[in-house]
Amino acid sequence: MSPVDLIVRSARLRWRGDWVEAGLAVERGRIVRIAKDAHLPSADRTIDAHGLLLLPGAVDTHTHFTYGRPDRTDIGTGSRLCASGGVTTFVEQAASTPQHCPPTLTLSSLEAKTALGRANALVDFGVHGGGCAANLAEIPKLVRAGVAGVKVYMGWNPVGQYTACDDATLLAVAERLAGSGAPLEVHAENPSIVAEATRRLKEAGRTTPDVYTDSRPTLAEDDAVAHVARIGREVGSAVHIVHLSSGFTLPTVRAARAAGADLSVETCPHYLFFDTSAYRERGPYAKVNPPLRSRAEVEAMWAGVRDGTVDFLASDHAAPSSEKAPGAEDIFAIPPGFPGSETMYPVMLREAFAGRLDWDRLLYLLAEGPARRFGYYPRKGVLLPGSDADFVLVDPKATTTIRNEGLHHHSEFTMFEGWSLTGVPVRTVSRGVTVAEGTFPGSVPDLAGRGEFVRARAA
Ligand SMILES: [Zn+2]
Repeated sequence: MSPVDLIVRSARLRWRGDWVEAGLAVERGRIVRIAKDAHLPSADRTIDAHGLLLLPGAVDTHTHFTYGRPDRTDIGTGSRLCASGGVTTFVEQAASTPQHCPPTLTLSSLEAKTALGRANALVDFGVHGGGCAANLAEIPKLVRAGVAGVKVYMGWNPVGQYTACDDATLLAVAERLAGSGAPLEVHAENPSIVAEATRRLKEAGRTTPDVYTDSRPTLAEDDAVAHVARIGREVGSAVHIVHLSSGFTLPTVRAARAAGADLSVETCPHYLFFDTSAYRERGPYAKVNPPLRSRAEVEAMWAGVRDGTVDFLASDHAAPSSEKAPGAEDIFAIPPGFPGSETMYPVMLREAFAGRLDWDRLLYLLAEGPARRFGYYPRKGVLLPGSDADFVLVDPKATTTIRNEGLHHHSEFTMFEGWSLTGVPVRTVSRGVTVAEGTFPGSVPDLAGRGEFVRARAA
């Protein structure tokens, strides 16, 4: 038998709920065998992973690499920071600023975005479609072309033609997705509740960062989740709630599922690691939509992450369109959003190493869960024979301190500044090719343009 392209040997990997010492063999970018060292074939290249954990690469289904200032974000930079952080597949959101490409509302705009990715991305990527009044006829075509899902906004117009949906439009988008397997994806905040809460605060002259959570109450999220879940259930469309912020919304999620809704939810690391105290500590930098929540809501979210109510994690990586301006007093004038794709895997590993999160649950949250929901499984999100050889080697003893200047983004800040971690990625491999090497944040080779567009539900 001729040698395979690559073997990784002597690693520790998860097998049926336990750690085993084993390795894997890679041929033409795919895993062809997972076995004890003695049963691995000969190979052209060998990685000795003694003492390292071999884990699936993360699938980050919520990135905004084409939305924001081009000097701060683009799909090439985004894919590099993914590689550094152990994200081997990212799924780019529909909204885009025109300097990058048009928002993904039509087949031609999908082609423009995938062309941008093919030319610049280091790791593989998927794309989300967008839904609004202007593109209803395009939605079935986008789904057939392999978008992950179709994202709608209830109260905010992200860009140009990509406008917010009223209820009639929401229903019309859901009808076009019914039975397709592609979820209706919703930024779930009832816009009139947010508008009224904001108006009252401004009227009272309360515009400092610490009031921001009050401007977007949990009620707005809870109400929106119940509303869209009901629409999806009525017409037979899967519904996915992006960046759920409050653990107090989880009973509504469970009730909607019990009533028959095909409802999934993602949350983001920032809703697990930061609470409203961040507005006092970080001022305008802590602004994100939906906002950070109370400590009790954060604890409730952790419970949902552990017990499976929360389906998976995503970063909602954004490079805000202007400076956060330290010391700025009017929180309503500050752009929202955090960078986060690069730090997601490392900060979640901390929880698993500390024994606060089960290892298999961690890997489901970061890899298998998102891959399953959006139709990339089993090509992505799992280490199995036949899957793409997308994996991360983690050194349980390697230590790092997160510093913004060390990360591969061009953003002005990270919420995880100064975090010291023990047990971080030391290598990321995408389809058998090393795309980051060295203790996190590792060095990233210049291999722009090797990333492939991955169609959702391709099989
Ligand atoms: Zn987002």
